[in-house]
Amino acid sequence: MAFGSIRERFYAFEAMFSYEKRLQSFEDWPFREDCLCTPEQMAKMGFVHCPSENSPDTACCFICLKELEGWEPQDDPRQEHSKRTPNCPVLLLEKKWDELTVGDYLNLNHQRFRFFITKWSDMKMDEFREKTEETLSYIKNL
Ligand SMILES: [Zn+2]
Repeated sequence: MAFGSIRERFYAFEAMFSYEKRLQSFEDWPFREDCLCTPEQMAKMGFVHCPSENSPDTACCFICLKELEGWEPQDDPRQEHSKRTPNCPVLLLEKKWDELTVGDYLNLNHQRFRFFITKWSDMKMDEFREKTEETLSYIKNL
């Protein structure tokens, strides 16, 4: 399963409120028995497997969108997630995924939108800065 652009992820990750769907994304995940980062633990911690050609072990949180790669068998998905995004709503959940109410779902989805908008805006600002520098450099060389 490939989730390329942020736009694709925005739509595709809506379905990732389902633990089963997240789990299915780890079909080709190499860390199984005797590992801390098993597909089950990864899915519980909100991760979706988003492999690419250059980084086959990239996992992305479907709420905060933090991408992590370079997993080791003894990496604990909760700890790794917490180190990078300590305020991720997934980590603050006090219920199991199948115990969420409609209100919990709407609240999580609202926060998911906020993370997407922030990431999307940051990406657009980076693009804008890059273009500005290119244009400036072009003008200087006239
Ligand atoms: Zn997260």
